[in-house]
Amino acid sequence: MLLFSNAFAQMNCGTVAPRTFINADMQAVKDSGANQRGLFFPVDCLGKKLSITVYIFRDSLGNDGITQASINSAVQTMNTDFAPMCLSFEVCRFVYVDNYNYNNYNFFKHEDEVYNLYYTPNTINMYFSGKVLGPTGILVCGYSHFPGGRDMIFITKGCAGDGKTLSHEMGHFFGLYHTFETGTGVELINGSNCLTAGDLICDTPADPGGSSGIDCQLNPYLADINGNWYVPQIGNIMSYYSPACKCGFTTQQFNRMIQQFLTNRNYLW
Ligand SMILES: [Zn+2]
Repeated sequence: MLLFSNAFAQMNCGTVAPRTFINADMQAVKDSGANQRGLFFPVDCLGKKLSITVYIFRDSLGNDGITQASINSAVQTMNTDFAPMCLSFEVCRFVYVDNYNYNNYNFFKHEDEVYNLYYTPNTINMYFSGKVLGPTGILVCGYSHFPGGRDMIFITKGCAGDGKTLSHEMGHFFGLYHTFETGTGVELINGSNCLTAGDLICDTPADPGGSSGIDCQLNPYLADINGNWYVPQIGNIMSYYSPACKCGFTTQQFNRMIQQFLTNRNYLW
């Protein structure tokens, strides 16, 4: 199991859902009811191809640490995950940055600077660094910004090819929460509050944010406050389970991303 021997396999994501985004989102749920959330509708088709500007932060010896081919390949893998909503991505430009400080990237020190110096409006700006210390203050595989935030996604070079990190961060970029989100309240296993708690999506079962074995089963088993046993979607891209278990997004996740794109990020080329 190559992925489990990868030192980056257990590194997760540093994306933080802003309180203002969560509050506005929960109010929108209350105002609109279930139907507008796309609960009963099939996946729509966006029919869009969006441009990514890639920035590669070189190390102190001037090494890239990642190839254009491997980034293009990772983008292709991401495209298969987004194909059901007819959304794809294409790298329009590679930019090499000879500031080795950024190769040991620190959100708190560097993001404003990078935003001012290396940012192409109307494209998705994707930065590749040797290490990424995200907004949660720990090293992560990647982080991005929720809709309304900057069009920036940061990826650790060693995680780029894991088949999940790019799609996961792009999921946040288009408004998806983690399947184990609790900033909205704790989602119950019986589904009774699935529209107003957790990831606010009902076709992703409650997720304790636990861990899984190589069989891609929750391990150890966990129960919620009602004594029901969690059966999370181990393969969901917005979970923290291993990339080796990756399956995809759900219908309602696609619908939510389409809604978020049309509302908050439709200025992208
Ligand atoms: Zn995440």
